[in-house]
Amino acid sequence: MCLGILLMSKIEQSNHQGEERRFSGLAVSAGIGIGKAFVHGAIAVEPETYKVEKEDVDDEIERMEVALTDTRKQIEQLQDQVRSSSSGHREAGIFDAHLLMLEDRSVLDEVVEIVRGEQVNIESALYRVINNYISVLRGSNDVYLRQRVIDFEDVMRRILRNLSLMHPTDQRVRHEHILIAHELTPSDTAAMDRSLVMGFATEVGGSTAHTAIIARSLGLPAVVGLRGICDAIHTGDELLIDGYNGILIINPAAETLSEYDVLADQKSSAAKRLEEIRDSKPETSDGREITLSANIEFEHEVSIAKENGAQGIGLYRTEFFYMHDGDMPSEETQVENYSRVARGIGPDGVIIRTLDIGGDKLPDGIAVQEANPFLGWRGIRLTLAKTEMFKTQLRAILRAAATGDVSVMFPMLSTLDEVKRCRVLLEECAEELDKEGVAHCSSIDIGAMIEVPSAALVADQIAAEVDFLSVGTNDLIQYTMAVDRVNDQVAGLYQPLNPAVVRLLQMTVTAGHEKDIWVGVCGEMASDLLCVPLLVGLGFDEFSVSAPRVPAVKHALRSLAYDECRAMVSEVVKFSGQDEILEHCRSLAMNSYPELLQR
Ligand code: PEP
Ligand code: MG
Repeated sequence: MCLGILLMSKIEQSNHQGEERRFSGLAVSAGIGIGKAFVHGAIAVEPETYKVEKEDVDDEIERMEVALTDTRKQIEQLQDQVRSSSSGHREAGIFDAHLLMLEDRSVLDEVVEIVRGEQVNIESALYRVINNYISVLRGSNDVYLRQRVIDFEDVMRRILRNLSLMHPTDQRVRHEHILIAHELTPSDTAAMDRSLVMGFATEVGGSTAHTAIIARSLGLPAVVGLRGICDAIHTGDELLIDGYNGILIINPAAETLSEYDVLADQKSSAAKRLEEIRDSKPETSDGREITLSANIEFEHEVSIAKENGAQGIGLYRTEFFYMHDGDMPSEETQVENYSRVARGIGPDGVIIRTLDIGGDKLPDGIAVQEANPFLGWRGIRLTLAKTEMFKTQLRAILRAAATGDVSVMFPMLSTLDEVKRCRVLLEECAEELDKEGVAHCSSIDIGAMIEVPSAALVADQIAAEVDFLSVGTNDLIQYTMAVDRVNDQVAGLYQPLNPAVVRLLQMTVTAGHEKDIWVGVCGEMASDLLCVPLLVGLGFDEFSVSAPRVPAVKHALRSLAYDECRAMVSEVVKFSGQDEILEHCRSLAMNSYPELLQR
């Protein structure tokens, strides 16, 4: 069958000269970014389009022929492998269809025509032609034709890969751009080159997903939950990303650009005003002192935390250090890293959280693929099962504690027994170091993260075993509401101010205070300016937020009166819905710091 006859209409492959178009999603990281799109689509990375010189056009076409020959050989090899398996005869036929596509001259002629006519690179022309076929097939009423989409995608991916292997440069962009992707992992985000990526937008995601958390730490504008953007946007399109309001604009018009100039000026003057309170204490207007620390994922963020006036590091997410290098760092490397962080932050100290691998943080080699990763082998469950790895980290923490103010904190606890097992292992490590005569400090503070409802419900028992509690609201909300924190489809049920969450928060603070220990919040709720009045009124002693959020949260704390927050809390704990609680919080926040709430 000649595939050319399937092409009834051509989709527009570029928005270059088009009108301004807007998409709305979830704003997860503030800031404005302007630049050309680079699309990392669900099917394949959309290649860049670039001009080739007239005299190089034949070479360009020759590149395609070589890539086609390689592709043919690979498919034939695969076909042989499948045939030689006992049940593979029928499946091997699938590859016949792939080989037929490679023979279809009508498709290839179209590609050649574009390369000759427009003098563009072969990857771009090929992607354009095959994508046109794919979209026609997708829209077809014939089930058989619709099912061929997957074959086309498979063949296209293979040819593009072969082309990129032959090409002296790979497919990565080397100029400033806005990244468009179906989904990004936290390590993709952490590996981004901040000097080239002006922001990113994805089709799926959530505001407390680690990808979003890292974007905020990096100060990278980001919007998620923009379904369909990988099809609607093409590499090279002009984009504006508004991480304040969750908007992505294709071909921003001149008036839009000037409106955004004004917004950027307003935001930068507001940030300058906040710099003035950098060295003042984060105490409420009626004198309640609250510790305001920063969350970090990487060592280099210590200086950002200090520049923003954080009092210490309230959460060092050490799993990113692990994932960054792809290999478990040795005890020595960890000691050096933790000591540098401790020295860098000074007397206010650092709380090192032990590895919280799992959930949406899945490095190769350790965590296994699971059907429900957030309910599976994550955090303390994994480290308690891999005691050798866990003890290496605990030893490093105890050793680093000899060089500065270091505390340790355990993530994802769901039972008291887990806390006790952590303590035993920590003591074991201290004894070993003693015997080995290695310098360390065995009397460090131990904290328990309260982020699973079962832990919040027995917070009184846990509090008796530790020196402090720190509430991880990102997970506490996820597990209380049974809402995946990285799934934008159920984001409406991810309710920080749901009465069930508020009760668990209250139980945790009360439990800690009854045992005379301090209780903090290190989840993203601590930097949500609408939630701050509630957390102050509940009596939290410490707020730990991403470094760039410290100035705004400090200003909010200094503008609130503890007594008023307490009075508000005594009212809202009687309410049955999040909306009423939110209204009360909003009104107190608006009365206290309206300037921070302007969009
Ligand atoms: C939390 O769950 O609130 C928390 C601070 O931990 P993480 O976001 O790393 O899961
Ligand atoms: Mg957590």
